Amino acid sequence: MKSSTTNYEIRLFDTKSRQLMPLTSSDGEILRIYGCGPTVYRDAHVGNMRTFLLSDIVIRLAKFIGYKIKFIQNITDVGHMSEDFIEDKMLAQAKKESKDPYEIAKIYEARFHSDLKLLNINPADNYPKASECIDLMHDLISKLITKGHAYVGSDNCVYFSAQSFAGYGAISGNRLDSLKPGHRFEYTEDGAKRFHADWALWKAAENRTEMIWNSPWGKGFPGWHIECSAMSLHYLNNFVDLHLGGIDLRFPHHENERAQSNCAIDKEAVSLWVHGEHLLFEGRKMAKSAGNVILVSDLLDRNLDPLSLRLCFLENRYRSQMDLSWDSLKAAHQTIKRWRDKIQVWQSSKEINLPEVKQMVHEIITDLTDDLDTPRALQKLRKIEKSQDLSDGTKFEVFKELDVLFGLALLNSSSSKAEIPSHLNELLSRRAKARSMGDFAESDRLRDLLAENDILVKDGKDGQSWDWLI
Ligand code: AMP
Ligand code: ZN
Repeated sequence: MKSSTTNYEIRLFDTKSRQLMPLTSSDGEILRIYGCGPTVYRDAHVGNMRTFLLSDIVIRLAKFIGYKIKFIQNITDVGHMSEDFIEDKMLAQAKKESKDPYEIAKIYEARFHSDLKLLNINPADNYPKASECIDLMHDLISKLITKGHAYVGSDNCVYFSAQSFAGYGAISGNRLDSLKPGHRFEYTEDGAKRFHADWALWKAAENRTEMIWNSPWGKGFPGWHIECSAMSLHYLNNFVDLHLGGIDLRFPHHENERAQSNCAIDKEAVSLWVHGEHLLFEGRKMAKSAGNVILVSDLLDRNLDPLSLRLCFLENRYRSQMDLSWDSLKAAHQTIKRWRDKIQVWQSSKEINLPEVKQMVHEIITDLTDDLDTPRALQKLRKIEKSQDLSDGTKFEVFKELDVLFGLALLNSSSSKAEIPSHLNELLSRRAKARSMGDFAESDRLRDLLAENDILVKDGKDGQSWDWLI
């Protein structure tokens, strides 16, 4: 519940209404938040991480000002087709790695969670997997058929009838009359559709033999968009106060999700649609072909604190396109180190001006509630750091209080190390050995395992070293 002691209101830019809107809990108790999660066929890159951090920033802020939160993030492990709409991304990768698709999903889901941990992104309340929610999707599809919003095509696929939803296009501006057949997004899909912009909720298996399920419409597998409607409505009890995702998901993913969900419950299912802008790396879109896809593990390889990525993201407003570079990451690494060192010094000062602390914390929270103005908030933090007028104790209190909002683990000393438990010491030794023997798959696996235990492993000229993550 919103605390009675706070008068803060978080305002966020809602893509659908194209204006700043207050974030409120529709049931007066809990903020219900849904974020589109990863498709687990490969490692998430730092661009994906920028979008995942967006939910963490909002949630930390909302909790700070007194909300209770329920946050659901899905794991897409079936149904997300490649751009050319020929193959499921999971199956394509499974073929490439000669592995079972469920094994692929397991590997990359585990890496996703350890990357989140490295960035100090708090876990969601639940991570439902598409492959484990097939019954939920069947129920929703049946409901949509009964209500006349979906139909079975002559190819045994079930399609959503786009024209049956009058509000189609409100999020992206792509109205049905302007969507031409052969539109780049997904409308090239062949099949027995009644209208070119209809999309598949359930796809017939045809020749596919893996990741298929029985259904009232025959063997097959779900479409990607229906998964997020089914999970958000089920896990958040038929209403979403805030729906998050990267800007590329505006259309068709969120447009289609909105149509499905609204038609299922006969009302607007989502209050705010918030989208994070994309991340570029050194001026270019991250792409395998450009060789500039950066992973969180690449930061570790360069001995950079992964939280320097977090700081770089916070230096940019979520709604503006951002260009990341190794130079900005190095600078952020230095800033975090400097702050940690200063905080160690400041904390011994007993001279604290509490009204000043309260006022500065208030100003920074106000920046954050204003559509997550993290750059402005950080500017203030830097000013406080450099101030000649504030006492060390006052500075320490401000940084300490705000650390939970920024999530930069600034109260960690960059030098002190607590005693490491023996089983983790053993893992460290095994990892050093695997690396020295050139078994990089094993050393990466152990590094991820250590990260799950809050240990950050670094490789340098003098071999392996480690630090506590949080
Ligand atoms: P995916 O795993 O491809 O389904 O994407 C997971 C999330 O990352 C989605 O919300 C995407 O919108 C988002 N995303 C993908 N690429 C980028 C990027 N370059 N910058 C920011 N977010 C991205
Ligand atoms: Zn989604």
